[in-house]
Amino acid sequence: MTERYGYAGKILRVDLSSGTINHTPSADYADRFLGGRGIAAKIYWDEVPADVSAFDPENRLIFATGPLAGFSGLSGSRWQVCGKAPAMTPEEFSYCNFGGRWGGQLKFAGYDGLVIQGKSDRPVYVFIDDDVVEIRDASALWGKNTVETREILKEELGRTVAVVACGPAGENLVSYAILLADNDASGSSGFGAVMGSKKLKAIAVRGKGKVTPGNLEKFKEVKEHVRQLLWKGPGYMELIAKPEAHIEVVPGQKVKLDLCLGCAGYDGRITVESRDGKKRGKSLCGSSLFYLDRVSKYYGEQNEVPFYVNRICDEYGVDALAIESMMKWLSRCRHAGILTDENTGIPLSKVGSWEYMEALVTKMSLREGFGDVLAQGIQRAADTLGAEAKELVADYVSKAGHLLTYCPRTFPVHGLLYAMEPRQAVNQLHEMGLVLFQWVNWANGLEGAYLSSDVFRKIAARFWGSELAADFSTYDGKALAAAKIQDREYAKECLILCDFTWPVTHTLSGDHIGDPSIDSKMLSAITGTEVDEEELYYIGERVLNLQRAIHIREGHRGRESDQIPDAFFTIPLKGHAMNPECQAPGKNGEITSRTGMVVDREEFERMKDEYYQLREWDVATGLQTKAKLEELDLHEVAQDLGRRGLAV
Ligand code: SF4
Repeated sequence: MTERYGYAGKILRVDLSSGTINHTPSADYADRFLGGRGIAAKIYWDEVPADVSAFDPENRLIFATGPLAGFSGLSGSRWQVCGKAPAMTPEEFSYCNFGGRWGGQLKFAGYDGLVIQGKSDRPVYVFIDDDVVEIRDASALWGKNTVETREILKEELGRTVAVVACGPAGENLVSYAILLADNDASGSSGFGAVMGSKKLKAIAVRGKGKVTPGNLEKFKEVKEHVRQLLWKGPGYMELIAKPEAHIEVVPGQKVKLDLCLGCAGYDGRITVESRDGKKRGKSLCGSSLFYLDRVSKYYGEQNEVPFYVNRICDEYGVDALAIESMMKWLSRCRHAGILTDENTGIPLSKVGSWEYMEALVTKMSLREGFGDVLAQGIQRAADTLGAEAKELVADYVSKAGHLLTYCPRTFPVHGLLYAMEPRQAVNQLHEMGLVLFQWVNWANGLEGAYLSSDVFRKIAARFWGSELAADFSTYDGKALAAAKIQDREYAKECLILCDFTWPVTHTLSGDHIGDPSIDSKMLSAITGTEVDEEELYYIGERVLNLQRAIHIREGHRGRESDQIPDAFFTIPLKGHAMNPECQAPGKNGEITSRTGMVVDREEFERMKDEYYQLREWDVATGLQTKAKLEELDLHEVAQDLGRRGLAV
């Protein structure tokens, strides 16, 4: 490591067309863009012209860690992949965020990031072993699934290497192809297909470096503070020791904790072993719920099918969340008589069964028969089938093909968070979303629930700019809340902190109000340079503006494009499993129900006005102003957008 604490010092660059391998200094980016999304977005801005398609060799696959990567006890070893994303309709810059240990290994090998460009003429993989970086033949790996690929490379190179790979879906340029890494950490946006387009099967990395904090005393203090903030109450240690006692699994399945490198908390990240002991796979948040209800309905009981369908998605390398919305659309098309078991070759009538999912995932990944249509993604597949099928595209599907959750009819602030992002930015939605779920427990009198309306208001004032953010009956105060959430979450994506742990908005003890200043304290301790909360958020604001500029350059039309699906304005809200009564706090913290609500169009536009004003963008067009970009030290961006007539 160099003396610039928190950074390995180099960004590795691999050009698969020429076979060139070199590196550039991280210092070129670190001060202004910190790490993760910030550095990746800046590299993308500098190097990927707006009209380059996702599968063009000139597209970049940019892997980035943050300054906290590699340190223990902070949950800060996440890593990002960014580039032009084929899952988006239309294609545009996007991102994904991984856990596990691959990012930490990259940093230990001496690199804060890795930029892949060009295209190989034969299948290859990249092997990084500290200073030794090689492009190696991967003919024998082509066609293998993600897990097989990982295992073959670990057998060959040693178990300590971390591997990220694409599966057959990526090789076949399926829009929803994922990347899968160690600990079954996966990343969407279609970057598995970008890797496939470059004929790059995998990247294996091993590093022997270490990380050192710039201020050891402060680092120890901050870690202790983090530990106390995250203390989760009685029973927590038993939970860590025996996760199977707290997680519902099918009888006979074994579970094992599977934490990411440097985890400070624990969120239920486990691996599950099938009853016959032949397969292991992750169970975490979305993956633990995927296909569960459909299986129960189809078989009349819970069984191992959800485990196997998660596994097949990971092995072929397709995004289970995108499959979720695709299933909804396929069922609608079947009921409308557009699609049948016969004309698709997929047993659509048996949704919920193993056969259904096996056929869907296999055909799509291998582009067999009707799978070739589905491989384009929902929106393009619907275009192929015609107007009626297009009308049946799920109402709440993001540009990345995901169903939209944490609905803006419940959370007025989420209308803005959805409108400004290329994909569902779940980390932004979690900030208020997870607080609301705790409040719902309190509203329903659950034993031990402490997040009352009063606590909610205080959290709102501390984290989201004013107590108004905790009043779900009004659109007032929501533009400010959106800006606060975004600035913090963009900074978080640069550090890169885990979304399951950060921010700590509420605590079990004391006044129950969390501490947003801890992120900047961790950064200060690691870099040895003092950064306060506001300075960190300012970097977040800069990175948000950079990402906005990229999208504007790629065709996003400002105010006109800052939209949410029409269904949110027209279809009244119904309850869901996490909040059946759609409960939310009202004006004076009273318990109200938002059942039947829609987003008010006029209020939504008024929120946008207020939001653009707060951002110091042009209110009429939603375009950024050159003055604001200059103020954010984004001079090159101001000049470029100004020249194109895309900033005022
Ligand atoms: S909380 Fe979960 S996802 Fe986050 S770092 Fe820990 S194990 Fe990984």
